[in-house]
Amino acid sequence: MNLIILGPPGAGKGTQSKRLEDKFSMIQLSTGDMLRAEVASGSELGKQAKVIMDAGDFISDEIIINMISSRVDHDDCKDGFILDGFPRTVPQAEALNKMLAEKSLKLNHVIELTVDDEAMVERICGRFTCSNCGSGYHDSFQKPATDGVCDSCGSTDFTRRADDNAETVRNRLTTYHEQTAPIATFYGDQGILKQVDGMAAIDDVTQKLENILG
Ligand code: AMP
Repeated sequence: MNLIILGPPGAGKGTQSKRLEDKFSMIQLSTGDMLRAEVASGSELGKQAKVIMDAGDFISDEIIINMISSRVDHDDCKDGFILDGFPRTVPQAEALNKMLAEKSLKLNHVIELTVDDEAMVERICGRFTCSNCGSGYHDSFQKPATDGVCDSCGSTDFTRRADDNAETVRNRLTTYHEQTAPIATFYGDQGILKQVDGMAAIDDVTQKLENILG
């Protein structure tokens, strides 16, 4: 089963994708994570991407599409994948349709997490991640049980994203509404779009997603 999770920054795409990965044996493909890995590796692409990402703007469609196209050929995608953060523009969505047809793959669901913009700024600005295992936390909504210690692996090393500051977040939200929101109409017209209230509690959102995926 292959699906797209749509929604603005902070909607919970990453959190929910990670929860669905194990239950449905799909792999989460986050273009943001792939780009951050490029930045961390110091590659030429990473250096160029960092400037664009720090400003909250988009990387070119061509780079993103090539990245995803080679990634879905990996063995770990054969049971299905969850696209998180891609497609982000209508041309990316069109390119994805073409790419899937060429690879004889099907998109089973497109699920949009609907949220309130102002709440997103608060959600994003407080989030942090365990540097060791990637578990996600939040200063107000999801603190570790013991302050400064990861619940999952015990690490005391955490990271915050460079683009998770109020100014960049507002730009990312504006860009989302201008360039990404039209994708919902694109998939709505194809009859495969479902919406889930992303403002609900994390477990309730997961439950609704699981109900959709069966
Ligand atoms: P995310 O982790 O999905 O919030 O992505 C972080 C940043 O990576 C975005 O603000 C963009 O600069 C870049 N990015 C991630 N995915 C895409 C995409 N599909 N198209 C263009 N830029 C992207």
